[in-house]
Amino acid sequence: MKKLYPVSLGCPKNKVDFEKLLALLLKRGFQITLDPEVADVFWINTCAFIKPALQESIDHILELGNLKKTYQKLIVSGCLTARYRDINLKELFPEVDEFYDIEPYKYFSENEPVERVLTETPFYAYLKITEGCSHSCSYCTIPQIRGPFRSKPLELLLSEAQNLIKIGIRELILVGQDITLYGKDLGMKEGLVFLLEKLSFLDIPRIRLLYLHPANLSLSLIRNLLGNPKVLPYFDLPIQHAHPEILKKMRRPYGPEKILNLIEEIRSLNPLACVRTTVMVGFPGETEKEFVFLLEFLQKVKFDYLGVFTFYPEEGTTGIKLPFQVSYKEKLRRKREVLKLQREISKERLFQRIGTLDEVLILGEKTSKSFYGISKFQAPQIDGLTYVKAKKNFFIPGEIVKVKIKKTSFYDLWAEAL
Ligand code: SF4
Repeated sequence: MKKLYPVSLGCPKNKVDFEKLLALLLKRGFQITLDPEVADVFWINTCAFIKPALQESIDHILELGNLKKTYQKLIVSGCLTARYRDINLKELFPEVDEFYDIEPYKYFSENEPVERVLTETPFYAYLKITEGCSHSCSYCTIPQIRGPFRSKPLELLLSEAQNLIKIGIRELILVGQDITLYGKDLGMKEGLVFLLEKLSFLDIPRIRLLYLHPANLSLSLIRNLLGNPKVLPYFDLPIQHAHPEILKKMRRPYGPEKILNLIEEIRSLNPLACVRTTVMVGFPGETEKEFVFLLEFLQKVKFDYLGVFTFYPEEGTTGIKLPFQVSYKEKLRRKREVLKLQREISKERLFQRIGTLDEVLILGEKTSKSFYGISKFQAPQIDGLTYVKAKKNFFIPGEIVKVKIKKTSFYDLWAEAL
């Protein structure tokens, strides 16, 4: 039996590809090991959408390349190989034995597999419902890496979801570059709503959605999502900026009013619904004026959670050629300012949850007197955690428990079981 040492980098979408590949490799007699010393094969599934991610991938290749003995193989797949598919990567990285493009399982199977080997907890899993992107945001490398937008067939997704449920998954997290468009290329109207209806018939207690493009999120879709009891009141709306001119240069087809309307609708239907976003600072042409506009917008909207990127002029994007690039030092200053502001906003938003009821998916024991998990309003890995007071062995990980929120901090919640 050959032993495989896996490394998966980047976003949940990349992780899904890798988990499918691992399931295929296990079927072919491979065994997973977490000890590189005893591995026959090192396999790195890379990320490369911005410079720091690319650097991380390169560091992993060099590190495992150094470690590799003559009888061991190093295989690299994922976004790095896809982004540089026109370059002779073997010449640049002689330590790598084989390169595979994105969706590496496609090299081993004609049909997309529905089995997965989960690499995070056995209690939640990502379900990638779309692939690629046909938008043309001027800073983004994803369309070159992942190709045009396409939806995964409904039947395939239902089988994949059923398999995940069979192995104990309690929360399905739907991901894709823009999941609001699900089914459009398959001729479906309101494809996401239809898919959610079908998924809701399955034995899965909770469904979370990530990446709702603000341009394609409508008021009726919001009402539909909040009307489905299995869909969590959680809106991940990556706005990227708020200033109309910057959004135009980014080629994001919406303005601040549209974002405000969406959030107003969400909060009027459910004041506690979580609204998370990501923003990008230091985009070419962002002067202090546009930056202050963004800060004031964030202060007004008060997102529950927020992630911030600095703009990187990436090869192959139109953003690299735009005039008035912002210095690296200035971008970092702006990033720090956004984070400082958001820290207080998140604290204030979370504080409003004190005394409210919630449901926590228990992920494990923290101490002999407490457990940790994710509430309805926290996506794993990106938002905070909820700690629930209880005696040892009181809960079984994977259980969903009703709680009352007692205390909050900048990101985390503390709760008592009901
Ligand atoms: S919507 Fe824009 S930022 Fe998102 S993947 Fe597509 S091109 Fe990139």
